[in-house]
Amino acid sequence: MSRPLPVRLLDPATSRDLMGLATVEVRDDFAVLVGFEPLPESPSPALSTPVFWLLPGLIDLHVHFREPGGEASETIATGLAAARAGGFATVVTMPNTNPPVDTPDGVRRQRAGSSGYPRILPSACCTVGRAGRVVAPLAALREAGAVAFTDDGAMVADDAVMEAVLREAARLGLVVMDHAVVPTIARDGVVRDGPAARAHALPLFPDEAEVAAVERDLRLAEKTGARIHLQHLSCRGSVEAVRRAKARGVRATCEATPHHLLLASEDIPGDDADWKMNPPLGTRADVAALREAVLDGTIDCFATDHAPHMAALKAPGFVGGAFGVVGLETAVGATLQAMVVEAGMAPLDWAARWTTAPARTLGIAPPRLEPGAPVCLVRPGPWTPQASDLRSRSHNSPMLGRTLWGRPVRPGTRPPSSCRAADSCRR
Ligand SMILES: [Zn+2]
Repeated sequence: MSRPLPVRLLDPATSRDLMGLATVEVRDDFAVLVGFEPLPESPSPALSTPVFWLLPGLIDLHVHFREPGGEASETIATGLAAARAGGFATVVTMPNTNPPVDTPDGVRRQRAGSSGYPRILPSACCTVGRAGRVVAPLAALREAGAVAFTDDGAMVADDAVMEAVLREAARLGLVVMDHAVVPTIARDGVVRDGPAARAHALPLFPDEAEVAAVERDLRLAEKTGARIHLQHLSCRGSVEAVRRAKARGVRATCEATPHHLLLASEDIPGDDADWKMNPPLGTRADVAALREAVLDGTIDCFATDHAPHMAALKAPGFVGGAFGVVGLETAVGATLQAMVVEAGMAPLDWAARWTTAPARTLGIAPPRLEPGAPVCLVRPGPWTPQASDLRSRSHNSPMLGRTLWGRPVRPGTRPPSSCRAADSCRR
């Protein structure tokens, strides 16, 4: 039995934010809570209080493991190792593998990739072959274990097909997640305006490509009564559309990624495809709008859009390089830096966006900090991730070498400095 650790416990399901002594053990390679004793009359501690933070194991609604078809960039096993290192107990895998996950067998293979934690909850395609033309066998996919439907990487661009998907998903009680980018508007756009875009004459991505898709999805969700989840919102116009729709009762949720919340197009250092993703980084004004939307609840969840690509696929630079960045290991540090350190979000609210909020989007039980539950243990304070910190098979990340705040750690790791003994936290 390991010794109790002084911790700041953050449990959104029970609205608890308090100091205490927790016993955490590694079982089957994942940290679980054994027991917790609150310290008497402990107020909400200061951000700088040097104790570990203890949260329920996180949920990531949006990861790309490249198996089958792209194992040189990521396998299910290396993706799960990255998830474990990032504090994630649950990941929703995207179906844009090769072949895509559009059959019950495909769904079952994704689920079988994990036993215990991190667990895989697979999503499945909305349309056959992710081609956007024929609705996939959604009932059979759900029966096989799919928890959501999405053609992520591509929007379901045909309105009639999307409406049919939404009606069937609503009947089945599952959410539809859309990669809301209209391809005929985005065309070859790869970046938003900024010094790097100008220096290298890179084709610009118009906001309208995302905003028009978001508005279309919200309109169809309103018409059908189905639940829509908008993936990786990146600009002011999108969050304004979602805010208006939520106010009139549309059943919409949405996510923002760590990179869209922390980084802006003005930060892009050059023609470096480790900064290329779809949709691209917003401008500083967009980042401010996204943060405001997280704070007021318009944006419900954080999700990484962890998108590994081996170096050869990124080598061509912005034009020709693959879209996407890895994000599982740096998700905690990047969102704490962006939202808690820079935007002043309460740590308990931050924790909710990685736990109870994504659970609500999926319609699964919210994770709770109770004995036996998987946990995420965070060492607060500055952390500068290096490539050697990543467990993912790919290292395409704009977060490397950047100072983030907070790092998931395994039990048994050295406690934050000046908190070596439980006594120091008892005062
Ligand atoms: Zn996407």
